[in-house]
Amino acid sequence: MSDYSRPEGPRIIAVANQKGGVGKTTTAINLAAALVETGLRVLVVDLDPQGNASTGLGIEPSDRDLTTYDLLVEDSLLSDVIQRTEIEDLCIIPATVDLSSADIELFTNEKRSFLLHDALRQTAMDEYNWDYVLIDCPPSLNLLTVNAMVAAHSVLIPLQSEFFALEGVTQLMLTIREVRQSANPNLRIEGIVLTMFDRRNNLSQQVEQDARDNLGDLVFQTKIPRNVRVSEAPSYAQPVLNYDTNSLGAQAYRALAEEILNKHHKIAA
Ligand code: ADP
Ligand code: MG
Repeated sequence: MSDYSRPEGPRIIAVANQKGGVGKTTTAINLAAALVETGLRVLVVDLDPQGNASTGLGIEPSDRDLTTYDLLVEDSLLSDVIQRTEIEDLCIIPATVDLSSADIELFTNEKRSFLLHDALRQTAMDEYNWDYVLIDCPPSLNLLTVNAMVAAHSVLIPLQSEFFALEGVTQLMLTIREVRQSANPNLRIEGIVLTMFDRRNNLSQQVEQDARDNLGDLVFQTKIPRNVRVSEAPSYAQPVLNYDTNSLGAQAYRALAEEILNKHHKIAA
């Protein structure tokens, strides 16, 4: 059990990168499961119309009656949109393809960038006692991702070890800076995590070197290896920590959770 607690409410982390397929959803689901394993209570917010985080945590499309779309666009109550998962202390606000029209529907709403921020600060939030809220962002720097960055304390950036990975991060950093200047001055970068890392591959090594040279301490020591068990787990509607608890992928996400918890202990101290 962790002795970690957060009297001022949950730490809200947006998992973001405008590139698709870099490991955002995989990181949101498995980091959530790893934090829960240490005794914490975690809410995942699925903010991607593809709904992969919802599927990966076992919420079938037919069971997604109320979703992040309802929370943001229809003013639904938190208590109506939060669903339990098979894992105790791990809940989710699911998403469906409905969410893809939110951008347009909210265009004339003056508070359009603050909808998730305000929703996650409903007084009902206190009763849940979450330690962490992880927001799984869509693969775009659109209004949904901006909502996540305005709502969050920090941004966690999965970086896939591939060509041009760092160019994408530069663009993402500019968006973070804009959000800081306009709506959320305290937004931090939680860190950059190398995903689908293959230590036998020169490109992976090169991307790691470039990332550490350019981004320094922002890059987590923990790297998530490319691991087939990680990619199989979603089709069993489970985090890899539950699907194959001793796999290299599961161990890596536990190490990432530890690194994040240690960092927060140091900041709190
Ligand atoms: P994103 O949410 O950024 O689009 P995903 O998390 O959905 O990316 O990952 C993209 C694909 O890569 C998925 O099929 C996922 O299962 C696979 N994947 C992610 N991380 C790993 C890993 N560490 N090892 C193997 N496959 C992975
Ligand atoms: Mg995704």
